[in-house]
Parts: sequence; C-alpha cells; structure tokens
Amino acid sequence: MRIVSRVSVLPKNDRNCAWAETLATKESFATLRDTVDADVCVIGAGYAGLACARRLGELMPERRIVLIEAEEIGNGPAGRSSGFAIDLAYDVRAGTGEDARAEFKAQTALNRSGLGYLEQTVQGRGIACDWDPSGKIHGAATPEGEAALDDFAAALDAAQEPYQRLDRDQMAARLGTSYYRSGILAPGAVLLQPAALVQGLAATMPDNVTVFENTPCVGLTKGAPHLVQTPQGLVRAKEVALTVNSHARYFGFYAKHLIPFATYGSMTRVLNRDELALLGDVAPWGLVPAHPFGSSLRLTNDNRLLVRHSYGYAARSAINPATTARLAKAHRASFEARFPKLGDVPFEYSWGGALCLSRNGMPVFGDLEPGIFGAFCMNGVGITRGTIMGKLLAEKIAGRDSDLLRVMMGYGRPNRLPPQLITRAGVTYEMHRRTRAAGRER
Ligand SMILES: Cc1cc2nc3c(=O)[nH]c(=O)nc-3n(C[C@H](O)[C@H](O)[C@H](O)COP(=O)(O)OP(=O)(O)OC[C@H]3O[C@@H](n4cnc5c(N)ncnc54)[C@H](O)[C@@H]3O)c2cc1C
Repeated sequence: MRIVSRVSVLPKNDRNCAWAETLATKESFATLRDTVDADVCVIGAGYAGLACARRLGELMPERRIVLIEAEEIGNGPAGRSSGFAIDLAYDVRAGTGEDARAEFKAQTALNRSGLGYLEQTVQGRGIACDWDPSGKIHGAATPEGEAALDDFAAALDAAQEPYQRLDRDQMAARLGTSYYRSGILAPGAVLLQPAALVQGLAATMPDNVTVFENTPCVGLTKGAPHLVQTPQGLVRAKEVALTVNSHARYFGFYAKHLIPFATYGSMTRVLNRDELALLGDVAPWGLVPAHPFGSSLRLTNDNRLLVRHSYGYAARSAINPATTARLAKAHRASFEARFPKLGDVPFEYSWGGALCLSRNGMPVFGDLEPGIFGAFCMNGVGITRGTIMGKLLAEKIAGRDSDLLRVMMGYGRPNRLPPQLITRAGVTYEMHRRTRAAGRER
C-alpha cells in the first residue's frame, strides 16, 4: 500500500438516477477554489464520509473539518441506492450455529447503531427524506424462494428477532400484485428517499464542518500536513479520512483486494389515480427478494414503482450506459411479470451505481498510514453499515473507545485477489450463474 500523488480515476455518474432527479428541493454546496487548512479532511460524501464528518464535528467542536465530494452530493452511489436502511445482519441465512449467531448479533448491533444515528439526525435536524419505519418485506415467488424464507425465519427465531409471515393473499393485499407465493415482514428496516437523505445530511453538518461538492481529490501527498489536491484548490490537513469505497484503489490502497461492481435500478413515472387503484390503493412498501439475485422493489411515497436487480463487474468503478440500457429491458420484464395491468406505464429513469466487495466479505476500517484512516468496502449494505463505520472511524480519530469500535477493529481486512483478468472473468461467471439461479425471483 502506498500513497499516490495523482488519483488516476475519478467517479463519473450520469444524470439519470430517479432519486436525485426528482428531489423536491435541491441543496447546493460550494466547490473548493482556494487553499484551506483542516484538522481532518474527509474524502468522499457517501454514508461513511457523511457520518464521519458529522461525528468529528460533534466530538471536536474546536477543530476544523472539511468534507470533499467528487460529484454533486446525492448523485453518487449513496443517493443511487434503493433506500432500504437495513437493521439486520446482511446474510441472515448464513447459519444457525453458535458462531453464526454471534456474528449475526455483532453485525445487527452495528447496523442498528448506524440506523439509530441516522434516525437521531433525521429527526433532530428535520431532514425530509420520506423516513418510513414500516420494515421490509421478503418475498418468495418460487418454491426455492419459500425454502430460503424458511431458513431466514429459522435464523430469526435463533436470534429471537420478531417477524411476521405473510401468505399469498396477504402479500397481494399489501403489494398489489399476486406474483408472490408468500413473504416475511421484518419490521426493523426503514425505507427512505436516499438522495434526499444524503443531501439533508450534508446540509445539516455541525458548524465546524465545511462541505464541498464537485471537488474531487486528484492527488494526495503524505506529509505534515497531508496535501489533498483538488482541480482548483488544496486542503492542508493534519489527518485524512478516506471514505471513497472502491475508489480507494486509485489512492493506492487495497488495489489488489477490492472488487468493484455495480447494480442497477429503474423507476416508473408517477402512477395516476386509476393506476394506483389497480394496485388496490396500497400504502408505500419495500420488498427484497428471497434470492439475493432476485428483484428488490419499492412503491415510493410519490407513487412510483422501482425495480432493482443485476450485478456486474464495474471496471474502473464506472457505469457503462450500454449495460444500463440492456438491464433496463430486464427490469421491464420483471416489472411486467409482476404488474401486467400496468404494462403501459413507462420507466422514466434507469441507472447504475458502483459498489465494493471483497472476496472474504471483510471491510477496511482504521489506520491506513500514519494520520490517514479509512472506512470502505461495505460489501453491499451501505446505508446503515456505511454510517456506523464512518461514525466509529471519527470516534477512533478523536481517541474515543467503545465496544462497537472494538468490534469494528476486530474484523480482518480483505484478502488478495487473483490477477484482474481472472477476477473479472470469475466475478462475471459467478454473477451469470447466480442470476440464472434466481429464476422467477428476478
Ligand atoms: C442501485 C443500488 C441500490 C442499492 N441499494 C441499497 C439499499 O437499499 N440499502 C443499502 O444499504 N445499500 C444499498 N446500496 C449500496 C450502497 O449504496 C453503498 O453500499 C453505499 O453507498 C456505500 O457507502 P460509502 O459511503 O461507503 O460509499 P459511497 O456511497 O460510494 O461514497 C463514496 C463517495 O466517494 C466519492 N469519491 C470517490 N472518489 C473520490 C475522489 N477522488 N475525490 C472525492 N470524492 C470521491 C464518490 O463520488 C462517492 O460519493 C445500493 C447501491 C446501488 C448502486
């Protein structure tokens, strides 16, 4: 691992993400065009960076914190997500043995703490982001999906977590589609408008935190102070927190360990009154698939339907427009299978967003170099996990201690990947295989 003076690849997202494009009000932030001094410079305003900057500001009110984001705040991966803020450990089906139970508890405690921090901020600062604590519905469309939900229920029983089984009729009544054979309502998750959340978080920082957007870090030089170069400015920072997810590779960190990949979503226009009536005038809902490569779906607060599925290796963490267009057709097929009566309702937006995986599922958290810290590689569950990792990173930088911080510090780090071509081929093969296995869950 080493520091690079030049960051060779920068994020670049299109303007076709429904969440950012349909924001009721848009916050804007300055672009850095000067030299500024900071005690800590946080690079990357996704969930991890936003939580890290906020917590640093709270814990060290006399210090100056600068948060820089390469793109418009809210149009990066955090704002492009599906808006499920998940409280439970990600892979609940991983097992019911003693070790699995302990890991489930640890991960759930982390996620819940992240969710709690978000809730406190959203309520305390009055952030309008359609915060809806009605939970997530796990839906099964096939016998295999139902078997997976049985495993899920067993894991929830073992962890003494509450849930509610939903039969075919109850699913249809809640969702407005008879596509699903059965489901499970897991009550702790929160549904939200992710771009509104991200913008709201950035706009309500403590006074000692300054936020810059359209301000990519194009070079990082280690020293005292560290020099964070941007196209038109410079941050001289005593300490740096790197919260750029898979882009950490372009800063020279874990270049041979992080797997950049992407997932994709499409959203309809607003449904009119007649179309909503065809659904049965149901309340907004969020559904996650019984198979991990199935479709996540939402009926949003403003009455649009969202379909998200498909993963792919994302070279240079970039979204290829041809891939987005191809997958929009696959979203369409999933949509029409579930909502045949809404077959005339077009998608208004289709988009992709970059994620970061590691082969062994481990994140990067803590020290990278003297005075340079990192929290990245969220392995897909970024809203709550990114938030808690960013918050705990700030607490580490501020010299605090806690049980959760020790849990985070106890995790291993990503293991090394085979050469890039082999990784890419392997990931692509595996994604196709699992997509096929998802069958009608997709
Ligand atoms: C379509 C889709 C649906 C998803 N749905 C969900 C969901 O429902 N629930 C959930 O929990 N997760 C979901 N995710 C995953 C979630 O979005 C990510 O895990 C999360 O955004 C990771 O947070 P982060 O802060 O680590 O990184 P990011 O959100 O990726 O933030 C990193 C930021 O760093 C910035 N950056 C990179 N390089 C530089 C640089 N050189 N200079 C300055 N800034 C830089 C990037 O622009 C970016 O904004 C979804 C993702 C996608 C794409």
